[in-house]
Amino acid sequence: MIKRRKTRKVKIGNVEVGGDAPISVQSMTKTDTKAVDTTLNEIKKLKKAGCEIVRVAVRDKDSIEPLRRIAERSDIPIVADIHFLPRLALDAIDAGSSAIRLNPGNIKRKEDVKAIIKRAKEKKIPIRIGVNSGSLERNSGSTADSMVRSVLDYIKIFEKMSFYDIIISLKSSDVSETVEAYRKMAPLCNYPFHLGITAAGPFLKAAIKSSIGMGTLLQEGIGDTIRVSLTGDSLHEVEIAKEILASLKLRNFGPDIISCPTCGRCEIDLSEIVDNLRERLKEFGLGNKGLPLKIAIMGCVVNGPGEAKDADIGIAGGKGSGVLFRKGKKVKNLKQGEFIDTLIEEIRAHK
Ligand code: SF4
Repeated sequence: MIKRRKTRKVKIGNVEVGGDAPISVQSMTKTDTKAVDTTLNEIKKLKKAGCEIVRVAVRDKDSIEPLRRIAERSDIPIVADIHFLPRLALDAIDAGSSAIRLNPGNIKRKEDVKAIIKRAKEKKIPIRIGVNSGSLERNSGSTADSMVRSVLDYIKIFEKMSFYDIIISLKSSDVSETVEAYRKMAPLCNYPFHLGITAAGPFLKAAIKSSIGMGTLLQEGIGDTIRVSLTGDSLHEVEIAKEILASLKLRNFGPDIISCPTCGRCEIDLSEIVDNLRERLKEFGLGNKGLPLKIAIMGCVVNGPGEAKDADIGIAGGKGSGVLFRKGKKVKNLKQGEFIDTLIEEIRAHK
C-alpha cells in the first residue's frame, strides 16, 4: 500500500485534486484553441479515453472567446494555460475556465500576480503554479533548487492574500532533476502536486521517462494529478498515464490484462488477440470501469494456466485453439475464433 503525502484538497470544476481524492489523469489539447469544434472533438475523445481534466493553450486575446465556448460545452474541466500576458489570465478566468496555470518564469510582476489571484478568488477557481526548468531564473544551487525557490517565492504572494487553492508542478525534461525538485518541495508545503516530465519526447521515450519519473514519485506517495507529455497523439498521454497509475495499483481503470511474451511454444497470434481484446473492451465501455479483474492471455498450455494462476479468467493458447481457465483451473476448450467473445462474456458476468 502506498501512503500518500497529506495535502489540501482543491477542486478543478467537479474534479477533486489532493487529499484523499483519486490521482486524476490530465492531458492537453494539441489543436489550435481558436478551432472550437476541433478542440471540443479532441476533448471528447480524451474524455472517452479516461482523461479527467484538460488544459488548453490560451495564446492571445483572440483565444478568449473560443475558450469561453469550449469551457461552456466541455464535459470535463478546462484549465487555461497562460504564459507571458497577465491580461490573458484575467480574461481566461472570466471566460469560465475551471482553473488556470501560471508560469512564474514569465508572469513575474507582483502586481500582475496579485490581480490574477484576486480574480481567481472571486471566481473560486484554483491556480496551478507551474514551474518549468526551461523558463526559470537560475539561482545558485541545482536546477531543482531553483525550481523550488521559484515556487516558494511565488507562493508567498498567494498566501499573503490568503489564497490557498494552489496546485504545484515542477517540471524538467530531465527525470532525475524533476524527481529531486518534487522531493525537495514535498515537505515544504501541503499543496497538491501535478506531476509531469516536460517535453518528454515521442511515444516510447515519453512513456519510459514519465513512468520512471512519475512512478518513482508516486511510489513515494508524491503526486495528486498527472500529465504525460509526449510528441504525438494526446490519447497516448492518457493511455500511458492510466497504465502508470494502474501499475502502482493507485487506480483501477478496467480489467488488468496480463499476457506472456510468447516463445517458441506459442502457436497462436497472441499479440493480435490481446490487441483485439483491448479494442473490444473499449468498444463495450469496459476499459474505464473500475473492474478488479485480472485476465491472463497466455501463449501455451504448458505454462499458461500455472503462470497465470492468480488471474480471475484466462486463456492458454494451443494450435488454433485454447483452454479457458478460471483461477488457474481448466473450464473448457475453445476454438481460437471464440477467444474474444468468451472473454468479453466472462468479464461482463463479473460486472
Ligand atoms: Fe512461452 Fe507458453 Fe510461457 Fe508464453 S506461456 S512464454 S508461450 S512457455
